[in-house]
Amino acid sequence: MRAVQVPEPGADFEVVETEIPDPAADEVRIEVEACGVCHSDVFVKEGQWPGVEYPRVPGHEIAGYVDAVGDDVTEWNEGDRVGVGWHGGHCFTCEPCRRGDFIACENAGVTGISFDGGYAEYVVAPHEALASMPEDLDATSAAPLLCAGVTTFNSLRNSSAEPGDLVAVQGVGGLGHLGIQFARASGFEVAAVSRGTDKRDLAMELGADHFVDSEAEDPAEALQELGGADVLLATAPSADAIASVVGGLGVEGELLTVAVPGEEVPVSVQALVQGRRRVQGWPSGTAKDSQDTLEFGALRDVESMVETYSLEEAADAYEAMLSGDARFRAVIEP
Ligand SMILES: [Zn+2]
Ligand SMILES: [Zn+2]
Repeated sequence: MRAVQVPEPGADFEVVETEIPDPAADEVRIEVEACGVCHSDVFVKEGQWPGVEYPRVPGHEIAGYVDAVGDDVTEWNEGDRVGVGWHGGHCFTCEPCRRGDFIACENAGVTGISFDGGYAEYVVAPHEALASMPEDLDATSAAPLLCAGVTTFNSLRNSSAEPGDLVAVQGVGGLGHLGIQFARASGFEVAAVSRGTDKRDLAMELGADHFVDSEAEDPAEALQELGGADVLLATAPSADAIASVVGGLGVEGELLTVAVPGEEVPVSVQALVQGRRRVQGWPSGTAKDSQDTLEFGALRDVESMVETYSLEEAADAYEAMLSGDARFRAVIEP
């Protein structure tokens, strides 16, 4: 099969011919139809994740069909339509796992980091890392739901926001354009925050009720004029951009960040204390959370907007993601 691997930290991607991997007894092999390019692929590309063995094939927004199942796998069959996201399996025996908190597993696998991911024609994953995917979803459009989608949907549904509350989505990019749609579909009043007016029309089409241009006005003040955000979903990995909107939180407002900027984000502790505000981070979700995301996305017509690339163009796809030029998710079709 053809695969795109990172030979060593910081090195360029290389397209290689390699053996099609066989699934172990508790694993499933998937023929990859599409794989999204996520900002977290930087961890593998630049060697920012401890313990990664190189060469490594990145990619954790995988949509495809089950191609082969290991001897002990009972819940999946050849031909099943499935997806695999960031959460690449768990141990079932550590303390969080024994509480059913699989995403917090102390020995959790990460797709495309602890084992080869979806920048390839085939991928092998632990059986518990698979989500069932509705047949009517297009693979290329659905792939980003496996990380960008589940991360925004699952963080919002676990947040303190209730229907009618003001949810501000900071950033209208790979995560943000899905966050706006999921926030709208979940019954929230939605404010999109972005720099410049480029994305105003799109944000409104995706379901935003308000658009805040953080270049033209102070985004924190603009959100306060709307009553203050009950939840501020930070999706763009810029410490400055996140810091500029934190002041827009209402009383008991929650800064919910799914973006991971490289630098620290300054937050006024006085504002936290006086307004009983909170700061919360959220990772993606388990395979079942991904499945919920796919099913709800299909039900409410949540669609990711994508640019497609071949395996050979993986470096271009990665560059488009990194520079923020991708509209809005770069997806590789092996
Ligand atoms: Zn991701
Ligand atoms: Zn565990």
